[in-house]
Amino acid sequence: MKGVVFLGNRKLELREFPDPTPGPGEVVLAIKASGMCGSDLHPYRAAGNAAAALGLGGQGGPVIAGHEPCGVVAARGPGVAPEEAPEGQRVMNHHYKGCGLCKHCRAGWSQLCRSGIVVYGMTGHGGHASHMKVPARTLVPLPDELSFEEGAAISCGTGTAYGALKRLDVSGRDTLAVFGQGPVGLSATLLGKAMGARVIAVDIAPERLKLATEFGADATVNAKAVDPVKAIRDVRCAATWGRVAFVGEGNTTTFDISQDMIRRQLTIHASWTFSSVGQGECARFIADRRIPLAKLITHRFTLEQADEAYRLFDTQTTGKGVFAP
Ligand SMILES: [Zn+2]
Ligand SMILES: [Zn+2]
Repeated sequence: MKGVVFLGNRKLELREFPDPTPGPGEVVLAIKASGMCGSDLHPYRAAGNAAAALGLGGQGGPVIAGHEPCGVVAARGPGVAPEEAPEGQRVMNHHYKGCGLCKHCRAGWSQLCRSGIVVYGMTGHGGHASHMKVPARTLVPLPDELSFEEGAAISCGTGTAYGALKRLDVSGRDTLAVFGQGPVGLSATLLGKAMGARVIAVDIAPERLKLATEFGADATVNAKAVDPVKAIRDVRCAATWGRVAFVGEGNTTTFDISQDMIRRQLTIHASWTFSSVGQGECARFIADRRIPLAKLITHRFTLEQADEAYRLFDTQTTGKGVFAP
């Protein structure tokens, strides 16, 4: 089969790989949708080993990209019970493999495993191919109400937004400011509204802010035109006793501990995606409330169009792209 490999420096290629066969405890998925996520742009643009730069480890060898895999169970390996992964079952993949035994793995947070992890699409073969081999325990059933494309989005970007909002315990009492209205931020706008919050969407691109308004944002702030901190304080957000979640990968920030944190009784969270349980919960939340997540998917590509697709998302600012192999 063919799979998309990032070569760095904005180059990629569709490379030939052997068809995967499932080993003990593993399944092979037939991929129906594989999303493009913002963090794909790190290895796409990187000059060196981007996975290592993000603290994810990995040998830097050629791996198939794509960490938002969604498809159906095509084959089961030895030791996988039929009821655990029925053939043809619609599934998402929680795209991390840990030891499977420690407390983090057992709680569904395998990305926090201290025994070393594989991040599919970064340090292990991901979803930008026709098939993908994963441990059966990484499967998360996809509700019938949701499309494979929506399942792909939930498998990283949208699930990450959900995970952060959950950490923040967002409710109808809150005003939520979402900085950045890419696929993760737009999902946070959409989900934050569904959780009852008043949402202020912040971005520097007018097209993204327009989309945020369509996704239910109550107010928008163009951070290029005005100082977003001042603008948001004007509407009494980021308040004293406020809660903050950092979600976006890479880069650094500084703030004054006394002035910006202690004097304002802030609670600051670092939020890394979601657990496998949280992924299922996010999918249920979206299905039960009929949240129009499908609107997020603006671009569809075949794997043969991968070069064009990533070139576009490297520069273009709105919506989300998905591969349907
Ligand atoms: Zn573990
Ligand atoms: Zn991602």
